[in-house]
Amino acid sequence: MRSITMWKRIVGRAGRFFALANRERKICSGLHGAREYIIFAHFAVPPLDSFVYHLPRGKPSIMRRMFSCLLPFCLASQIHAQGPPPSTQDADRVVQLLKELTEVPGPPGYEEAVRKIMTDRMRAFTDKISYDGLGSVIAQQGDAGPRIMLDAHMDELGGMVRHIRPDGFISMEMLGYWLDRALPDQRWVIIGSKGAVPAVTDIWDAHIAPHDAQGQAQRQELFLDTGARNAADVAALGISPGDPVAPVSDFAILANHRYLAKAWDDRVGCAVMLEVMRRLAKAAHPNQVFYVGTVQEEGSIEMRGAATSARIINPDVGFSLEVGIPNDVPGPGPEAAQEVLGGGPGMMLYTFSEIPNRKLVAYVKRVAADQHIPLQFDFVRGFGDDAGAIKLNGSGVPVTTVLVPARSTHAHNGIIDRGDFDRTVDLMVALIHNLDAATVAAIKSFNP
Ligand SMILES: [Zn+2]
Repeated sequence: MRSITMWKRIVGRAGRFFALANRERKICSGLHGAREYIIFAHFAVPPLDSFVYHLPRGKPSIMRRMFSCLLPFCLASQIHAQGPPPSTQDADRVVQLLKELTEVPGPPGYEEAVRKIMTDRMRAFTDKISYDGLGSVIAQQGDAGPRIMLDAHMDELGGMVRHIRPDGFISMEMLGYWLDRALPDQRWVIIGSKGAVPAVTDIWDAHIAPHDAQGQAQRQELFLDTGARNAADVAALGISPGDPVAPVSDFAILANHRYLAKAWDDRVGCAVMLEVMRRLAKAAHPNQVFYVGTVQEEGSIEMRGAATSARIINPDVGFSLEVGIPNDVPGPGPEAAQEVLGGGPGMMLYTFSEIPNRKLVAYVKRVAADQHIPLQFDFVRGFGDDAGAIKLNGSGVPVTTVLVPARSTHAHNGIIDRGDFDRTVDLMVALIHNLDAATVAAIKSFNP
């Protein structure tokens, strides 16, 4: 145990200790492979202690050699981490919240870690917290007036262990809409019976990748590699079919107040919701607000947690908080999507799951204009979200989807703009402030 403490001390301050199973396996080389361990590290991220499960048993001489190899790297990482002077952003509460929310695993059906963060944070703003039968968390502020439902889903794209091969490679059922090309050569965590197990999706070595007659690399089937040498190794790690698999990707701050992370879809919606809750906790307005972190949105047509929680809440109006799809990147063309990163909050005018209520859309436009909040509009054929389930509750509910633009939402590395986030919080607060019984009645009315 002394060894592991030492390793954490060496690597932990500068970065993350991430060791794969089985000595002598050089599955991923960071800077230095070593006979006993494969180590790679990032800076400025709290160590994931549960990732360390294979204790070093090296001789003192080997340990010394590894230490001397790692020392320059650790120092370099430390310098890099300390590179630019810490800005006020580093101490920013929202940055901490976004980092915390995006780094935890939460594939559909395994939202435990996200639910804990959401519930803990919600408790600061209300004591009325409940759950639906699938695991969505519902926090209520106020107990009179129109029932406003704010929705953000807690799950992210992920996978599930399907089959373990005799050679130890693991096939995965993908959960959610992944592009094939986003999957190889990525880091993942498998939540097994003995805890979190790090893994990487295999990619053929360039020197031996099979090519077709035209010289194109052949398509490779996807397998997870945990460092296991055989199926018995996989079993010993506590992994079995059905175990959840989540992407691993660290939160980072990019230039121009833009943030890089996985799972913006829909942790950014969760974060907007918590910030709106904070702002409205002591504010007077004539509505009761239900803040819902839903489960099992990704990969499901019926948006399961939104449907079950809406049955409990019976909302008069529903807002889904989601990621917008900025299309200011080379390639897809203007018909695919219309938002830009940094252009302010967005609102969906059409998705496959929802044609938003026209009066509610007009209300959002009016409030945004009154508040001088820039509002973008989007029209994405391949997009569906929780609003599609909320709208069908009871005899029908006016809904719309408000968006924080995010690049590469269904991948390990997405980007949001802090200004878009802040303005979306402002917009949601203003929308709720300005709703009242008469406005809601007018929105709900179909009397010609
Ligand atoms: Zn989503």
